[in-house]
Amino acid sequence: MTKYIFITGGVVSSLGKGISGASIGKLLQLHGFKVNMIKFDPYINVDPGTMNPYQHGEVFVTVDGAESDLDLGTYERFLDIFTGKANTNTAGDIYQTVINRERRGDYDGATVQVIPHITDEIKRRFSALKNEYDVTIIEIGGTVGDIEGLPFMEAARQFQLENKKEDVFSIHVTLVPYIAGAHELKTKPTQHSVNKLREIGISPDMIICRTEYHLDKSLKRKISLFCNVPEDCVVDAMDSPSIYYIPEALYKQKVDSLIIEKLNIKPKKKFNKSWFNKIKKIGKTKKKVKIAVVGKYADLKDAYKSIDESLNIAAASLNAKAETGYLGAEDKNLIKKLKNYDAVLVPGGFGNRGREGKIKSITYARENKVPFLGICLGMQCSVIEASRNMASMKGANSTEFDDNTKYPVIKILDEQKNIKYRGGTMRLGNYKSEIKKGTLAHKIYKKTSVEERHRHRYEMNPEFVDTLAKAGLTVSAYHKNILPEIVEIRDHPFFIGVQFHPEFGSRPMNPHPLFREFVKAALNK
Ligand code: GLN
Repeated sequence: MTKYIFITGGVVSSLGKGISGASIGKLLQLHGFKVNMIKFDPYINVDPGTMNPYQHGEVFVTVDGAESDLDLGTYERFLDIFTGKANTNTAGDIYQTVINRERRGDYDGATVQVIPHITDEIKRRFSALKNEYDVTIIEIGGTVGDIEGLPFMEAARQFQLENKKEDVFSIHVTLVPYIAGAHELKTKPTQHSVNKLREIGISPDMIICRTEYHLDKSLKRKISLFCNVPEDCVVDAMDSPSIYYIPEALYKQKVDSLIIEKLNIKPKKKFNKSWFNKIKKIGKTKKKVKIAVVGKYADLKDAYKSIDESLNIAAASLNAKAETGYLGAEDKNLIKKLKNYDAVLVPGGFGNRGREGKIKSITYARENKVPFLGICLGMQCSVIEASRNMASMKGANSTEFDDNTKYPVIKILDEQKNIKYRGGTMRLGNYKSEIKKGTLAHKIYKKTSVEERHRHRYEMNPEFVDTLAKAGLTVSAYHKNILPEIVEIRDHPFFIGVQFHPEFGSRPMNPHPLFREFVKAALNK
């Protein structure tokens, strides 16, 4: 039997509900509980796969092939778990399920309505993981008061009513802004937000206040009185130099004990504080390593969130600090700027924009022996680059960019047209790569078989593998002996391209080997 913690947000978006929830999940894990988290996004898109990373940040891919919100990445990294399709839900997907049922005639002529049909489906999904975990943390996206969020709030209200009081804990995350002119922290927005929540019928058990300054006793008392929450359940969450320090900040305010008491659960092991110290130890030395990420979205960290985290984690494990620059592939001064960096990473992407800039930066890294890591589209661009400049195939391209190219070195393979992938035409989620011994890939992974997450349509064309190998770019891993998964250049300190997305596999205490070795090569440059 699982217990439930609901996280809602108020006042403004981007308050870090995901990080607050994941930090609480971490504390509960340190007490020995099995914890998982589920995200509910009130927008109508069926999944975030088609959403613009400019607006929404990266699309995080789960091992079972769900294209999800980047919060799932936060859950995986904090809790060291694997999430999947059941962890990501949108209004669009929920409505689609209900409408499909209606079309099949499953509702037997009833009028299909938000209450109860949509809310029933939401509630069913709240408890999707109930048999596997001691605690399920449910994050409802958006802010209280949003029209599209109402069915989710209503479902949460019903869920509380239908379950025992001791089985559900409700947390509201708000903002307590500092007004410089008055030198004061203001609680009114929090009061309004909680009022709105109570109007819907949800009384929070705890309020987490995002703030720039600590809340003193009198402010906590004020919030407690106006919001009908015990004083010790008014918690402050200050901006932190690292998100991984937040669990300790919440622990110091006894957030875990308060939740454990209300949920009436018994810790399964003695709380081990060593996690706090271990996480603080990482990356103390301030040796810097400068990595350039050349992509479509310049200066937009969230569009490459997992890559950013992976570089930080890898650098920290090597006692260094990653300084990552996000360079726009269309920048006219791109190559000049690259000279300020120790290594070049070309990430995944879709579409034509900035393609030639990415290819040029790969030429720069290859010729100047600068460590290079190509991820998905980045790997495909390295194949195009090598074809044009090492194997003299002028005009070589991916058919994604040029349907009529004489050398379609990247294309949708005929074999593939008959394969039914989980994501329709996309290769999504975990697929196996068999790695050849004696390659850089093997040296990195120290294994001959790995599973990594994919999200792409196009593949390296096997027809060109031999020609490219002769020219110096070799395939070091395949999926089922047909689909090239990893390419590398031997005559280079570190040049590797992978068809998959290793960035989703990094964990704060366990850097992904590809990132670790890439950053190590950058440090040795
Ligand atoms: N656009 C390329 C493809 O679909 C690469 C995708 C990616 O980088 N995720 O194959």
